[in-house]
Amino acid sequence: MGANVLYRRDIISDNRSILLPSIAGVSQFSAVDYPGHLCAVIYTQGCPCRCRYCHNPNLQRGGPGSSIVSWPMVMEWLATRRGLLDAVAFCGGEPTVHKSLLLAIKQVKALGFNVVLHTSGLYPHNFAKVLPLLDWVGFDVKSPFARYPDVTGVPGSGGKVKESLERMLSSNISHELRTTVHNAILSSADLVMMARELQMLGVSRWVLQRFNKAGCADLELVASHTAIDGDLVDRLRGYVPNILVR
Ligand code: SF4
Repeated sequence: MGANVLYRRDIISDNRSILLPSIAGVSQFSAVDYPGHLCAVIYTQGCPCRCRYCHNPNLQRGGPGSSIVSWPMVMEWLATRRGLLDAVAFCGGEPTVHKSLLLAIKQVKALGFNVVLHTSGLYPHNFAKVLPLLDWVGFDVKSPFARYPDVTGVPGSGGKVKESLERMLSSNISHELRTTVHNAILSSADLVMMARELQMLGVSRWVLQRFNKAGCADLELVASHTAIDGDLVDRLRGYVPNILVR
């Protein structure tokens, strides 16, 4: 999070915040979280996964964060941004861990904003509830479905993510599927398996993201070499034709 993040440390006793997503911070302006649009980004607190490459590890633990803005404060500020921003993006942590996300999204939509969700898809039931209200989804696919517990640390997570992914693909909502690649976590065989699984689900576009050291707390991962091999990408395109490496 950059310098334009709003924090309040004094309102966790506000009962209304218990009924709405625990907010870790708000980025007032982003041009990269909703392609072609300007948005604010709301970071929610809490994620059950423990991905080694996580660049927001301070948002993993549940409950209130040490830096908290209340939902009413966020809404009050968003009301001043109408006409200046296209959308509001919910990011984490994992926003769908909060059942109250649906209410939060409805309130943001009522202000006239488009709504974006960045998610790991770990909560298919909650994801299904918010999906009809979303305008764009950034969906992380982390590994072959069978290897998900190795990457996330969450037993059974692969099946849940697959269920969310299938829901999203059948909804025809605009989206981006992206995978963070570090050679210590995903082998070439893993990526080929992922490409085959995505092909079977009808996916035609896939973004491979180079590992980003910024914020990563895993020093072994940060210190180790990683690269995305061009020949491998060509091979993956045999399964998913449109692959972007960034
Ligand atoms: S799912 Fe996202 S927020 Fe959660 S640990 Fe993994 S990278 Fe971090």
